[in-house]
Amino acid sequence: MAVCFLFLVTSLFIFKDRIIDAVLDNAVKTRMAAHDLKLEDGLHAFLIGTGSPLPDIKRAGPCIAIMAGDRLFVVDAGEAAARNIMLTGLSIGKVEAVLLTHFHSDHISGLGEMMLQRWAGGSNDKPLEVIGPEGVEEVVAGFNMAFKLDDGYRTAMHGEKTFPPSGAGGVAKPFALGPEDDASMVILDQNGLKITAFRVDHKPVVPAVGYKFEYKGRSLLISGDTKYCLSLEKQAVGVDLLLHEAMNPKLVGLMHKYSYLSHGVSTAKVTHDLVVYHSSPEDVAKIAQMAKVPNVVLYHIIPPLPSAIFKGIFLGDAPKYYDGSMTIGEDGMMISLPVGSKSIRTKYLFR
Ligand SMILES: [Zn+2]
Ligand SMILES: [Zn+2]
Repeated sequence: MAVCFLFLVTSLFIFKDRIIDAVLDNAVKTRMAAHDLKLEDGLHAFLIGTGSPLPDIKRAGPCIAIMAGDRLFVVDAGEAAARNIMLTGLSIGKVEAVLLTHFHSDHISGLGEMMLQRWAGGSNDKPLEVIGPEGVEEVVAGFNMAFKLDDGYRTAMHGEKTFPPSGAGGVAKPFALGPEDDASMVILDQNGLKITAFRVDHKPVVPAVGYKFEYKGRSLLISGDTKYCLSLEKQAVGVDLLLHEAMNPKLVGLMHKYSYLSHGVSTAKVTHDLVVYHSSPEDVAKIAQMAKVPNVVLYHIIPPLPSAIFKGIFLGDAPKYYDGSMTIGEDGMMISLPVGSKSIRTKYLFR
């Protein structure tokens, strides 16, 4: 026995470098292989970031990736969006376009990195399309300028084949909705995929829109930032899944009450103001009930929840107004709507 043990220890010592190399080799191989997720035909929503401007250790800035068949779109590009897209296993080089709901900083702050990583991830020779309401041109021009020097460094270091200069940055694709409160517009209708933009109510932020994705009989709607909105309710009729922002006024009220304990006066002012242009879980529940939406997942969670115990408190009275399924979303959550069925499947990729 002692001889066997001695032999084992000696072998481990002699071959330790080769063992470490083999473990490393396998770990890196597994990690690299995770970058091309294979999915069944359907509409798949990936909650990339479910946070808001308030700092949240568990939630990145707002961002949802939508896979429709083999086409990949991204709605909003909050802080850490590119990093989290890559962590889900999605191939960021295949992102066809980013669709912006509005230009609040939490929805656009990750756009520069998104452009860069999508360029790098696919050696793309055309810039990333950034679709949004009027004003998107200014946002894209700003990020293009901020990343111009870095773009040059990438091509200089890795060559034009890997980083074709023509593919750097983004190109703005603005659309203009009519002035009506319920204005909408089909912005893409191709090979069974339809994307509709519609006006929401996030005043004084104008324009602000939500997006509806319809693909081979399955559908989902993304609210963007809005308070209770009849235009959204109208668009939500008949969709399989509603991804809606949510803010709990009671918890925000507590933050306001104790804001004198934090630094500066802005917390007091911000926590006082923000309740007027977001939706409570009860608001979302009423909309979902009226529109007969069977599944709701909340994102853009305000305020940050210190632990899972707060989930019930966050939902408040929402279950009283809605008899469908309502879940608080989290980063890395994947919701699949397979074609040819009415089913909805959920996976948690970051757990
Ligand atoms: Zn926001
Ligand atoms: Zn906003």
